[in-house]
Amino acid sequence: MTEAPEAVEIPMLIGGDAVPGIGLIERRNPTRPDEIVGFAHEGDAAIAEQAVAVAHAAQPEWAAASPQFRADALLAAADAIDEVVDELAPLLCRELGKVIADCRGEIGFAAAYLRAAVRDAEGLVGAREVVDDEHGRMEIRRVPHGVVTAVTPWNAPVILALLKVAPALITGNAMVVKPSPLAPLAVTRVLGAIAAHVPDGVLNVVHGGAEVGHVLTGDPRVAKVAFTGGLTTGQAIMRNAAQTVKPLVLELGGNDAAIILEDALLDDAAVERLVHASFITSGQVCMAAKRIYVHRSRLMELVEAYTRIADEVLVVGDPMDPATTVGPMVNRESRDRVQSLVLDATERGASIVNLGRIADEALIGEGWFLRPTLVLGARDDDPIMATEQFGPTVPIVAFDTEDEVVARANASELGLGSSVWSADEERAFALARRLEAGFTFINTHNRSGMALRAPFGGRKQSGFGREYGTAGIEEYLVTHTINLPTSFRAGNAAGSGAAYPGTSA
Ligand code: NAD
Repeated sequence: MTEAPEAVEIPMLIGGDAVPGIGLIERRNPTRPDEIVGFAHEGDAAIAEQAVAVAHAAQPEWAAASPQFRADALLAAADAIDEVVDELAPLLCRELGKVIADCRGEIGFAAAYLRAAVRDAEGLVGAREVVDDEHGRMEIRRVPHGVVTAVTPWNAPVILALLKVAPALITGNAMVVKPSPLAPLAVTRVLGAIAAHVPDGVLNVVHGGAEVGHVLTGDPRVAKVAFTGGLTTGQAIMRNAAQTVKPLVLELGGNDAAIILEDALLDDAAVERLVHASFITSGQVCMAAKRIYVHRSRLMELVEAYTRIADEVLVVGDPMDPATTVGPMVNRESRDRVQSLVLDATERGASIVNLGRIADEALIGEGWFLRPTLVLGARDDDPIMATEQFGPTVPIVAFDTEDEVVARANASELGLGSSVWSADEERAFALARRLEAGFTFINTHNRSGMALRAPFGGRKQSGFGREYGTAGIEEYLVTHTINLPTSFRAGNAAGSGAAYPGTSA
């Protein structure tokens, strides 16, 4: 085994300065929990308030800058992110346990998304609709909210921060970001690369847990909150933000159904996509396929192909090894929770099939690993089906009719993603339209089905608001209408103002 790199120490970032904390958040490698990867300086309520004040002071000038100025700054920042991919990917891998190719991919994708946001914002930023006609003069402006705060989770820390930072900054908002204490290191370096390209105070980063998050989602100077994370945290943030009526983007958990129709093409490539749909990042993905419904006529065939392909492509081991596709879970609590969920399914009568190959048995015993599994014979109300497992296990169950599977998929109180698999595109789209989800993939599921232009977000208790595409930019703009009716223009015969507009001559 090679020597572990020295632990890094990452300060907070406020007003362009590296700011020390009141303590340190220690991050250990989930692959080898004895190894300390680094420390993030931890803030408190006072430091969070200071960051909000700094963002509040910097925002008007940033908003007043030309759209081209902001675009140039952010495009330069995207180039700077590209330059640190190779340096930061191992840090992300070691703090989170995500496989190295995906860490590289995530940071590279963050730069790509930053460029896409700059492009998608063209024409939206600073847009003004001006009407001057017989009804009067009206101007509709799209303006930034002001200070936007982002509270983000650990499972894709870089991209989930960028999905908020890029659209908020390009539209003239200033920001304070609070990454998850479970993966604060690489994302802060990426945000630092962006902050270096914008005026001091426009992008700030503070670290901490619920106390810091509470300030960032409640301070009266904060105009909008963007949150990705769990349902109960989202509910707490909604309650807190309600005190000052802040608009929110809430991207919460999912329990995505993947629906395999009887005419689905189940060749090896399709089955491999279905396997990755559940097991990338060890299943710790909001839009992972979390319950698979297959037409009864294809059940045996799918289970056979699924286990065969999974045994080939799921390699459990050190996420720094390029051959590994399934790393550890983020921490012991997550591992234990998913392990109990699988055990509970067996106690309720389901059977478990181990999937994949273990590359290094000794390492698996050391870190927070969980062997990938398939769960067969579960019922819809078993917790493994009814809750978000967020780990490397997935149930496959059979269905008989389309009406039945739509009802079963929609029975969840969550409505994030879903997928329909069919050789008939029209049929797949028709079924997809009946699903209560914010996003439906066709013939794939999870990351491979995303597109920079495709708005993503939840319905029901998976939240609201959208990321990606122009919808993801519009979240960070608000309209301001200025209206002068003709009759009240200087020199015109003004009415009393008592009648409804348009009803009196
Ligand atoms: P979490 O809710 O535990 O934490 C998210 C963030 O909220 C962290 O930064 C945490 O420190 C902060 N926080 C905790 N309590 C807070 C409070 N009272 N006030 C303000 N902030 C507070 O979530 P997690 O475990 O980091 O992430 C996993 C969850 O995120 C899963 O449910 C997953 O499905 C969801 N998720 C959703 C999406 C999506 O796009 N919809 C994407 C990724 C993850």
